[in-house]
Amino acid sequence: MKTSNLKNYTLSKLYCNIFGHHYDISKKVTQHVKEYTCTCCKKQMTTNGNGRLTELTTVFEDINSVLEYMHKRRSIRLNQKLAS
Ligand SMILES: [Zn+2]
Repeated sequence: MKTSNLKNYTLSKLYCNIFGHHYDISKKVTQHVKEYTCTCCKKQMTTNGNGRLTELTTVFEDINSVLEYMHKRRSIRLNQKLAS
């Protein structure tokens, strides 16, 4: 079971190396920042400050969680403003 999973993973990676990754949005952090996951090899990418795609490292995961938190707070404030 484990060996076949590993084999599939290696094949997926090989496929991506040849044909390129196929990213799907896995998470919308803010309007401009999103996280992407390759449907083939599950490699994760994110939008960085320059609006370019970069590998989703733990550093970027932390940045994104802060961004998401700030974005949510801002949306709540906006909603409250609209409601009053
Ligand atoms: Zn891939």
